[in-house]
Amino acid sequence: MTGGGRGIGRAIALRLAEDGHAVAVASRSRAQLDAVVSEIGAAGGRALAVPCDVTRPEDVKRTVTAVRQAFGDVTVLVNNAGVSGPLGPIGLVDPQAWWAAQTVHVLGSLLFMTEIVPRMVERGGGRIINVCSVAGVIVANNFSSYAVAKSTLIRLSEHVAAERHDENIQVFPIQPGTILTDMARDTLALPDAAKWAAPLVGMLQQVTAEQSDRATRRLQDFVSALAAGRFDGMSGRYLDVDQEFA
Ligand code: NDP
Repeated sequence: MTGGGRGIGRAIALRLAEDGHAVAVASRSRAQLDAVVSEIGAAGGRALAVPCDVTRPEDVKRTVTAVRQAFGDVTVLVNNAGVSGPLGPIGLVDPQAWWAAQTVHVLGSLLFMTEIVPRMVERGGGRIINVCSVAGVIVANNFSSYAVAKSTLIRLSEHVAAERHDENIQVFPIQPGTILTDMARDTLALPDAAKWAAPLVGMLQQVTAEQSDRATRRLQDFVSALAAGRFDGMSGRYLDVDQEFA
């Protein structure tokens, strides 16, 4: 599980552990990972913290090796690590910052799938949950770095699902719902947020803590069902938690 130290990743990690999965959480913030591992351990679950920058191939290799040593082969991979990326129209937005967001969402997910899929195939199958966004299926003006990263991840998921269909690899590009995480709060705090992303800002400002908590529980139920195989017939399809899991 990438980006498992906080936000959506933490919520998914806690639920998968509750379901009986041994869970490895991988991100850059060691203290956050350790806190999640302690929380899971205190509840009687099994978890491992692996500091990792998902954009670095050597980190990804080291992470997958550590996970295999601790828990054996990966049966469910969750690519969740993400950043909001810069706001602004092409021509004004910093292209390096724009590209950096692609490396987290797309390269990170690609590297983990590259390390994990061959062994999943050898052992007869596996499930991959790629955390995408509704931004990946719309034109999100002035938000193209994030939107392009997510649409690429959706298409990449569709390709892997098709390529590996006969090898029992299920791939789910999901829209997780709207949840008030650090990423949402950081986006609201960007100096140009209101200028470049007024609809997004307006939408996020209206989400209450209660709605966010409800959305988190709904997502946890959804991911639990995906990991258990209840949606295997829908592999390769973009799944919106709010539409598929009513
Ligand atoms: P958070 O900012 O709370 O979490 C992002 C996670 O990604 C953190 O654990 C962070 O850890 C990790 N991460 C970021 N960059 C890297 C990196 N280079 N290497 C390893 N880990 C990294 O945001 P959310 O929980 O909201 O986001 C989780 C996912 O959900 C993202 O993919 C996001 O796009 C998606 N999403 C969120 C929505 C929402 O409403 N919140 C809606 C739709 C999609 P660290 O910085 O320590 O490395």
